[in-house]
Amino acid sequence: MGRVDRIAIAIHGGASSGSEYLDTELQAYESGLERAITAGYKVLMQGRSAIEAVHDAVMVMEDDPIFNAGMGSALNEGGEVQMEAVMMDGKYLNSGAVALVNQIKNPVSLAKAIMENSNHTMIAGQAAVEYGVKHGMMPVSSDYCITEKQRKDFFRRAAGEIYRLPVNGKKKAYGTVGAVAVDYHGNMAAATSTGGPALAHAGRIGDSSIVGAGCYAHNNTCAISATGRSDQLMRLVVAHDISAMMELGGKTLQEACDYKIHEKHKDALTEMGVIGVDGKGNISFSFNTKCMCRASISNHQPLYIAVYK
Ligand code: ASP
Repeated sequence: MGRVDRIAIAIHGGASSGSEYLDTELQAYESGLERAITAGYKVLMQGRSAIEAVHDAVMVMEDDPIFNAGMGSALNEGGEVQMEAVMMDGKYLNSGAVALVNQIKNPVSLAKAIMENSNHTMIAGQAAVEYGVKHGMMPVSSDYCITEKQRKDFFRRAAGEIYRLPVNGKKKAYGTVGAVAVDYHGNMAAATSTGGPALAHAGRIGDSSIVGAGCYAHNNTCAISATGRSDQLMRLVVAHDISAMMELGGKTLQEACDYKIHEKHKDALTEMGVIGVDGKGNISFSFNTKCMCRASISNHQPLYIAVYK
């Protein structure tokens, strides 16, 4: 495909029901979002690929301790980091994913390496770390991504002082980051990365490493990254369903996102949010939670950063 006019990128830093911490640290969330979207947009403006743009935007959020991905990941029931990430290329429908890792600084880079260099879609655990090392990544210690805040929260949660896992969809003790982009060639890509829910069962894998659930990209339709209650997002195949509604149901990107988030499952207690772009550079956000940390920019829309509705 030749050069097209519109480039666009959108990112999220997790949908949630809000918290005192979020309010106190609002500025840190907003400046983290700004740094990430700027990094991704710079890639697009340089004429580079949507894959590189979503990778760089997600990597900046993984490196930022304010977000629950990479550095600053929530701790599982054993007090360990258990990260996962996924990336999808909308041109070739190629994808890569990684789960159950903690000795790699940037799971999104590992997902990209798996997508680009292996015949597999997902590699988990120690073997994934070894794969990353073989592809030039530096291994880090297993507690490298643990921040003081997450360690303190872990002990407070374990002692029942603050909420544990989300109960009846009420309180949410997790987060995620993601990015979607369309480049000057009209190619789309999506990536998602998370530290998962606090006190998650050891070995638990969520939607943020599952193609079709937490991430999907197809040049015919859109690129989507999702956030929210993982087990439901997987069952509801959120990201792929939005693409299918556009392809088969003739919905626009915003209509498909809104239908999926607000209509189709309105009886289910499912906290969720999505970000999307389409081939024309349209950007959509849709979420049924109080907040979703989000940002977007394109060559026809100014920088937008928001947390609350
Ligand atoms: N979906 C992520 C997970 O359950 C969490 C989130 O998006 O907030 O791991």
